[in-house]
Amino acid sequence: MRWSWQIAKVAGIPVRIHATFALFIIWIFITSLTGGQGFAHAAQAAGTILAIFACVVLHEFGHALTARRYGVKTRDITLFPIGGVARLERIPEKPSQEILIALAGPAVNVVIVLALLPIVLPVLSTLLAAPVPVYPMGWFPALLLYVNVMLVLFNLIPAFPMDGGRVFRAALASRLDYVRATQIAAGVGQGIALLFGLGGLLRGEPMLLFIALFVFIGATQESAAVQMRSVFTGVPVTRAMIRDFRTLRADDPLSRAVDLLLEGHQQDFPVLGARPGDPPIGILTRSDLLRALAEGRTDRPVGDATRRNCGTAHPRDLLEDVFRRMEGSGCPAVPVVGDDGSILGMVTLENVGELAMVRAAIDRGRVREPGTGPR
Ligand code: ZN
Repeated sequence: MRWSWQIAKVAGIPVRIHATFALFIIWIFITSLTGGQGFAHAAQAAGTILAIFACVVLHEFGHALTARRYGVKTRDITLFPIGGVARLERIPEKPSQEILIALAGPAVNVVIVLALLPIVLPVLSTLLAAPVPVYPMGWFPALLLYVNVMLVLFNLIPAFPMDGGRVFRAALASRLDYVRATQIAAGVGQGIALLFGLGGLLRGEPMLLFIALFVFIGATQESAAVQMRSVFTGVPVTRAMIRDFRTLRADDPLSRAVDLLLEGHQQDFPVLGARPGDPPIGILTRSDLLRALAEGRTDRPVGDATRRNCGTAHPRDLLEDVFRRMEGSGCPAVPVVGDDGSILGMVTLENVGELAMVRAAIDRGRVREPGTGPR
C-alpha cells in the first residue's frame, strides 16, 4: 500500500502504519501540547491513542490467524486513523470459513472486554457514586473498555466494509449468487455511510464524517472487486491472453527494456533465461524498471530488476485462479507457458480489466434489446 511503512513483523505478517495515522498521532500530540497541557500530558494522550490501536492490531490478528488456519495468507496489516485493515490474499473456499474469519476480529475485542470488566466494574459504581461524580472515561481501563465495546458494536453492523458485512454476505450467498449478495451488503454499507455522514454534518462532528467516508469507499471497492472477479468465472486464460508481445532476456541491458517501453509495445515484459530456449524467469514491470533507472545504471542486466514471484499460467488455467494469484503476489502480469515450457502469451491486469469492461458492455447491450428492458 502506498504511503505506509512497515513498523513490525508479527507471526510472519508485516504490520504497516499509514502516513495518515502517523500524522494523526503527531496532531494529537501537538494539539494537546499547544492546548497548554504540558509535555507529559501530550505524551499521555498520544500513548492512549497507541494503546487503543494496539487493540485494533489484536483485532486484525484475530482475522489473520484464523484465516491462516484455513490456509489463507495475510499480505499485511495496515493501520489507518479509523482502524486497521488485514489484506487477505484471497477469500476462503467455504462461506462458513469466511464467517469465522470475520467474527474472529470482534471476538478478540470481546475477550479484552471480559478481561477488563473485573477491573472496571467494582470501581465504576464508586466513581459514579462520589459526591462530585468522576468522569469514568478519564480513567484508562474504563476508556479501553469503552473503546473495545465500540469496536465490537461497530464491526457487527451488517454492511460492508465492516466484519458484519462479510457475515451478512455469506448468509445471503446461501440463497443468492455471490455478486448479488455482495451488491446488497455493499448497498447497505453505502446507505449507512450516508446516515453517518448526515449525522456528522448535523452534529458538526468531523470524526463521523471521516468514518462515513471510510465506510462508503470500502463498500464501493468491495462491490467493484467482486463484480470484476465474477466476470472471469469459468473463462480460460487463452480467452484473455495477449499473443502479440515482446520478451526480454535476463542478460539484456536495462536500456533495451527502455527502448521497448518507449516504442509503446507494452508496460510489463516477460523475462526469459539467459540461454536461448530457457523458460521465463519472471516479469520486469514498468515501475521496477523506473526504480532501477532511478538508481542510475542503464547497463545493469534486466535479470537484476526482474520480479521472480509472479509464477506462470497455463493456457487452460481459469482466469479467476490466475487473477487471484496476481492479487496475491502483487504482480501486474503473468507469462503464459505451454506444455513444452515455451512462452505463448501473457496475462496483464490491464487486458483483464479491458475484458471485464467489454463483457459488462455486452451484458448491458443484452438488457437493452427491444422489449426486454428500459430504454
Ligand atoms: Zn475486523
